[in-house]
Amino acid sequence: TERTLSIIKPDATKRNLTGKINAKFEEAGLRIVAQKRIHLTKAQAGIFYKVHAERPFYDELCEFMASAPVVVQVLEGEGAIAKNREVMGATNPADAAPGTIRAEFAESVGENSVHGSDAPETAAEEISFFFAGLEIV
Ligand code: ATP
Ligand code: MG
Repeated sequence: TERTLSIIKPDATKRNLTGKINAKFEEAGLRIVAQKRIHLTKAQAGIFYKVHAERPFYDELCEFMASAPVVVQVLEGEGAIAKNREVMGATNPADAAPGTIRAEFAESVGENSVHGSDAPETAAEEISFFFAGLEIV
């Protein structure tokens, strides 16, 4: 079975939506095998999102990710990376399919409630950024 890194972003934690979002993952057959609530510094958010360093929204994105606590989690299941992205919906909530997390909860393309790894290599790197092996059960 595959694992992916998920983040419930500040816009969602501020609106107390963690449980509703976790229910979507569980209904889709994804198991939460690690989870913690942390408050990132802007510098830590910058390291996590370093692939976007040259994009015009990078500074705003890092500022946002450090604006309130996030819930970081490891989701496990058959095809977890693709399945999670399906449950999340498109980056821009205006394009997200009905019933997806972003369609139901996201506020804008930037404040879009969740992050999910996009490939096996990034999933492995992102999981080890936040979790030690012993924390994943
Ligand atoms: P994520 O990586 O967070 O799971 P994603 O893979 O759907 O989302 P990316 O293209 O990797 O989207 O962008 C990373 C994040 O940067 C987005 O989730 C969003 O928060 C922010 N972002 C992307 N495009 C824009 C934009 N045009 N304006 C503002 N923020 C943006
Ligand atoms: Mg991405």
